[in-house]
Amino acid sequence: HAKINKRDYQIYDANIDKNSIERFQLINELKEAIEQNQLVLYYQPKLNLVQQKITHVEALVRWIHPKRGIIPPDTFIPIAEKTMQMDALTRWVITEAMAQYHRWQAKGVNMSIAVNISAENLKDELFCHWVIETLAQHSVPVSAMTLEITEDAVVSDPELAIKQLTLLRNNGLTLSIDDYGTGYSSLAQLKQLPVDELKIDKSFVQKLLHTEADQIIVQSTLQLAHNLGLKVVAEGIEDNETLQWLTERHCEMGQGFYLSRPLPELPFNDWLSQSEF
Ligand code: C2E
Ligand code: CA
Ligand code: CA
Ligand code: CA
Repeated sequence: HAKINKRDYQIYDANIDKNSIERFQLINELKEAIEQNQLVLYYQPKLNLVQQKITHVEALVRWIHPKRGIIPPDTFIPIAEKTMQMDALTRWVITEAMAQYHRWQAKGVNMSIAVNISAENLKDELFCHWVIETLAQHSVPVSAMTLEITEDAVVSDPELAIKQLTLLRNNGLTLSIDDYGTGYSSLAQLKQLPVDELKIDKSFVQKLLHTEADQIIVQSTLQLAHNLGLKVVAEGIEDNETLQWLTERHCEMGQGFYLSRPLPELPFNDWLSQSEF
């Protein structure tokens, strides 16, 4: 192996574009970021539309980079996936979410937290066992944690996915299909999935009241999900009219900028104590 340092790399590949160099640097820095606590969880409320109460939040990771500032997850989650760092990242997220659960409990706030699980995690049997054991070790009730999984995480190996989801669900975790409607899963697959809820993707919700096709899609999804015994979360609610439309149609939960953007712990706590819910 020839040793190539960063300077040689840049001279050697002089016409490489700026984005690839940045990506290359981010790959190397991500490991450090996880170890040095440069990651932070933001929290976005999920409003229970039946009880009109905030009972759940979704944890969304951010990378507070010492030089680049806040890096959104869409930039580094794909890198973590390609470089085998998803296991470390998701374990960090779940560990932090458990600590947050106890900080809320100490303030008398009973909150159930949803975390995003990637396709890589779902393929990993060790990971699924780790989740169950770690919750028990940290005295976090399984009912306080929801795992959000995209349809596509299931499509690549449905049999394995169903096995792992069954294990998680039999142990009492709540499972949610994320970005529903944007992936390639079939209704036949959906029927077999041991999950508790569907999250309708924000692309169907954001312009709901101005797009008849979206109304038909969301209405049918609500019916389909309810007939299959699943609860429905609508994400991407950006105005009160959409919130009312969904509430009237018995959508169980709502999430979106109209209620709150994802916020760091302390601003989230302030928002919660001032909100009407
Ligand atoms: P997602 O799981 O579908 O999360 C919802 C995204 O939509 C979030 O973006 C959220 O800020 C945004 N959002 C929520 N409400 C609204 C709204 O009303 N309007 C609009 N325009 N957007 C809204 P964010 O936080 O940038 O996350 C992007 C994606 O990154 C997430 O999509 C998820 O796939 C991934 N991600 C975030 N955190 C994690 C994590 O801890 N682990 C994994 N594996 N993926 C994560
Ligand atoms: Ca999600
Ligand atoms: Ca989503
Ligand atoms: Ca998404």
